[in-house]
Amino acid sequence: MRIDVLTLFPEMFEGVFGSSILGKARDRGKVSLATVNFRDFATNKHNTVDDTPYGGGGGMVLKPDPIFAAVEAVVESARQAASPEAKPPRVILMCPQGEPLSQAKARELAQEEHLVFICGHYEGYDERIREFLITDELSIGDYVLTGGELPAMVVIDAVVRLLPGVLGNDRSALHDSFSDGLLEYPHYTRPPEFRGWKVPDVLLSGNHAEIDRWRRRQSLLRTAKRRPELLERAELSDKERDWLEQAKNRPDLER
Ligand code: SAM
Repeated sequence: MRIDVLTLFPEMFEGVFGSSILGKARDRGKVSLATVNFRDFATNKHNTVDDTPYGGGGGMVLKPDPIFAAVEAVVESARQAASPEAKPPRVILMCPQGEPLSQAKARELAQEEHLVFICGHYEGYDERIREFLITDELSIGDYVLTGGELPAMVVIDAVVRLLPGVLGNDRSALHDSFSDGLLEYPHYTRPPEFRGWKVPDVLLSGNHAEIDRWRRRQSLLRTAKRRPELLERAELSDKERDWLEQAKNRPDLER
């Protein structure tokens, strides 16, 4: 996968792109991560990329011309590097008004060959960017940050860890929270007893069918307790729904 990020602050990405799973994914050639400073595409003599809003009001608005030119340059360079039948990129505007990021969206984006992120700043974007340039608008939550850099990093991390061969064990993402619509079950590791608190017996039993059953049930219970609205959309058998109804009033089952 190729990822290009249009930003006025490329230096913010250096640590994130070079560290941990993203850094390893890049080193192993699973993903190419690049930043483009769209100020380099400004055409006026002061290299400004923003201007006052028509109609008045506070705040500055990102101009369309540098952002269109930067996206077009990235698309052209990708077209030259890839085969002629390569899919055009998804062009994603980071914006608090966009579609909320979800695990399903991260999975969908992980199928793509090329993602281009646009990180905003100031009051917002000229609306023609939204109308005529992008394919997606993504928000990382109902709050407003200063710029789109941190949100883009969040989306990129969520997507890249799903690419084949990026996590040490591809199965480790399978049971992550939200992958099957539920929160993940609890984990324990050595020692088997810590300050008198024991690991649940079933996890030490070696009986994998029982362990899978316990994990599924813990996942159901945890979701019911913390995020009950997720259960409405999750795929549960009738038997599981019946069990959950009874188990909700049994705190002894929560471990
Ligand atoms: N005036 C805008 C509004 O009310 O929708 C908010 C602009 S915000 C200060 C500046 C930039 O930060 C946005 O253009 C966007 O790129 C980014 N941003 C802020 N919060 C975000 C969020 N929750 N999700 C994604 N991007 C966000």
